[in-house]
Amino acid sequence: MSSENPIREIRINPVVPSESVLVATARGLRPREQEERIPHDGREHVETCPFCRGNENMTPPTILAQPSEQEWQVRIVQNLFPVLGTESDRNNISLGMQQVMDGYGRHEVIIDYHHHGIEIHEMSQQHLEMLLGVYRARMEELFNSDNRIRYVLVFKNFGAAAGASIKHTHSQLIAMPIIPENVYNEVACSQAYYAKHHQCVFCSLIDEALTYEATIYNRESGEVRRKIDVGQYVVERSERFIAIKPFASRYEWEVHIMPLVHNSNFMRATPEDLADFSGVLKRTMQRLDKVLGGAQYNYYFHTVPRCESLQDCDSSYHWHMEICPRTSIPSGFELGSGLFVTTISPEDAARQLREAL
Ligand SMILES: [Zn+2]
Ligand SMILES: [Zn+2]
Ligand SMILES: [Zn+2]
Repeated sequence: MSSENPIREIRINPVVPSESVLVATARGLRPREQEERIPHDGREHVETCPFCRGNENMTPPTILAQPSEQEWQVRIVQNLFPVLGTESDRNNISLGMQQVMDGYGRHEVIIDYHHHGIEIHEMSQQHLEMLLGVYRARMEELFNSDNRIRYVLVFKNFGAAAGASIKHTHSQLIAMPIIPENVYNEVACSQAYYAKHHQCVFCSLIDEALTYEATIYNRESGEVRRKIDVGQYVVERSERFIAIKPFASRYEWEVHIMPLVHNSNFMRATPEDLADFSGVLKRTMQRLDKVLGGAQYNYYFHTVPRCESLQDCDSSYHWHMEICPRTSIPSGFELGSGLFVTTISPEDAARQLREAL
């Protein structure tokens, strides 16, 4: 338990200023409606599971397998129930205010591991490196194969509350003809920031996080007005990557991982980048598991989209991965207002995660 004074403040998201969160740590606000934790399922093989190695005939054909088709450890197949498909060739429909765009795209399943019940934090760093390489390669392939594709979203749902319908560890990939709103907002806002400050907003956040302490002096007297410990949001740091607990995050235990050196595009990450990234991902997931044990979560990649109207996204945008544990159920207030409530302060959450390993 934290001994800090209760906080009650609205924090503005520094990347997308129209988004804000209410941080309210007063005791009376806890506990919120808690999301279920998932018991660990360590089974290696399940006879009836379509994603277990040996049951390949239960899924659509293999699109990609690593390291080999027979001895695969990561495998991509078409989603049996795709939300977007390639068949239809209809034009976009518009009926007054109701516009419909053709649901063109691809929806694939990435089976993360040949064993059934293993979780991300239990996989070897080597395996995670291969998995990240598969994400990257398939994203690039789909993005470059068709210029109608504006974005390829790679994401993972863990647990039913996070949207996973099959228990075997897996991720998904959706290639779509639109730029998703969250990405669009980040790209547009980071461009506006760049136009004003001539620096990428994510790089600015990293610089700030790596400055361990900031002191604000009184201009006239020179007295110390306030000391701010800005390094307190760093959860994990390596040679090339940083894991940060955002100061205004929607989810209590949300963590973002991003490259230290500016790069807008995940598809341009080098093998050396992925090797380093896999270590940060593993340790971050271990930390989350230590603190939250069995929490359901989503993670996804935000990278520069195919942007024609958005000039020069490359200098202003910065790719990253967002990990969002689902520990409490959003209330009507949150869904209705879009103002997410956090009952644990991000500073406290970051400290707990830092101290977990
Ligand atoms: Zn399985
Ligand atoms: Zn940057
Ligand atoms: Zn993002």
